[in-house]
Amino acid sequence: MSKSNELQVVLLGRPELPRLQDIFRDSFYEVEGLPASRMLADGRWMEADGLMPVDSPIDGSEIGYVQRASAPMIEEIVEKLDGHMEEIASIPPHKRAEMLEKVADLILEHSKILSDVLVTEAGKPMHEASGEVNAAAERLKLVYQDLGRLLEVAIPGGYGPGTESKRAVIIRVPVGVVAAITPFNYPLFSAVAKIGPALLAGDPVIFKPASNTPIIGALIARLFAEAGFSRFLAFVTGPGGSIGDAIVSHPLVKAITFTGSSQVGKRISRVAGLKKMHMELGGKAPALVLEDADLELAADRIAYGAYRLSGQRCDAISRVIVVKSVADRLVELLEEKRDEWKLGDPRDPSTKIGPLIDRKAAERVESLVADAIERGAELVGGGSRWNLYFQPTLLDDVPLTARISWEETFGPVIPIIKVEDEGEAVKISNESVYGLDSAVFTSSVERAWRLALAIEAGGVTVNDFPRHGLGLFPFGGVKDSGKGREGVGYSLDELTELKTMVFKL
Ligand code: NAP
Repeated sequence: MSKSNELQVVLLGRPELPRLQDIFRDSFYEVEGLPASRMLADGRWMEADGLMPVDSPIDGSEIGYVQRASAPMIEEIVEKLDGHMEEIASIPPHKRAEMLEKVADLILEHSKILSDVLVTEAGKPMHEASGEVNAAAERLKLVYQDLGRLLEVAIPGGYGPGTESKRAVIIRVPVGVVAAITPFNYPLFSAVAKIGPALLAGDPVIFKPASNTPIIGALIARLFAEAGFSRFLAFVTGPGGSIGDAIVSHPLVKAITFTGSSQVGKRISRVAGLKKMHMELGGKAPALVLEDADLELAADRIAYGAYRLSGQRCDAISRVIVVKSVADRLVELLEEKRDEWKLGDPRDPSTKIGPLIDRKAAERVESLVADAIERGAELVGGGSRWNLYFQPTLLDDVPLTARISWEETFGPVIPIIKVEDEGEAVKISNESVYGLDSAVFTSSVERAWRLALAIEAGGVTVNDFPRHGLGLFPFGGVKDSGKGREGVGYSLDELTELKTMVFKL
């Protein structure tokens, strides 16, 4: 195994946030030469009693500050948001959709600063950052398709005794204040995919970003405010561990749309009680490779699905379950592919994967790899860490006793698990506590269909790696991977209530 000090990444100088354009000025001020963001509540940009520093994963240096809200502040903010329910309801949905389109236009207008912040704050390679910015704008432009979900349904009576002279109309009504809590890995897209549909539905939103990536949150909150949503969107920052309970347990918060780890999701479920709950949680996506698979295609797609964004994706392929007869050839092809995944400073346009988000994450990935090797896995390539930079890594013959066979990796590691046949592949796949995404590589439609039904996961992708994209195909998990579905139209199911009106005629 190579030693961690063999890996060096050439850094392009000290990371700095880009200069803020005028539009962002009232949401930021300067502290010791760095930008500090304010919070948004009741249409005003406000400060809390303390600040939290924000570090760049590029080299660990401080790049800015955000407010550290307190639990009593959260209570006040939620009460004020709830007070704006009637006002947002008085704006017709088509007008709200137009306002969301305006946010999309503002995102495109400010795409440079948004993607530069994603690179500096989240450590995303430049092409990934600009891809996320465009996806955020495109998602908001799709709200006209979401509108279709708000159509009302009429049910005639007479199909059951006692209903002959009745008719029902089923409408969707706003649920009330929605808490949108987002993770670090897609900090812009996740925010937009939650806030957009909630505002479209007529729900005021309290938005809390991950503390690793709050500055991009402040920028997008500013753009929603600019488009006319300033009284209907509150933007708060602070450690989830200290303000999370105050947000999710507030009686006026009626729904929670959360994306993050299963551990935090479970805690929120316990603390929040009987609220509407949409949970997009962790994953351990398997790629099942069968003997009739196109192995070149499988290797290319698996490498992409596992290494993209340093594996810090809930839908990342994080275990490959391959039948023995084709396993060695697949490993050879994967090792060739690994070379294409250049690790480096995310500001270098040739970099394909950048740093992991923080030290804890990097050390975790390192310990998962070390544990697998200790338990008998063979390190085919990679395996080294330099600060937060972890090499794309390929592990062969990973035993089921290794932690990496079961725990979410969130790092650029492909563990190969060899099996006798399709049946054993499905069995191992389903033994996971997670059930978010999965992939099957086969040339038989019949097998693909059979496996897709047998695999316990919210999504199965055949002959490609799973990706959630804009949400045109709804996504979400089973088991510890969550509940509810995110996606165009589907998100509105989580953010509205059905009301049944029965008319006796
Ligand atoms: P995380 O640690 O669970 O944090 C997610 C969010 O929850 C952050 O805003 C965090 O705030 C907040 N939080 C922490 N403790 C809380 C509490 N007690 N109450 C309320 N909120 C609390 O997740 P992460 O590390 O940012 O993101 C990685 C995880 O997200 C992975 O497990 C990944 O699989 C999952 N994910 C899932 C999907 C999906 O679609 N299923 C998509 C993307 C990511 P702080 O940062 O202040 O702690």
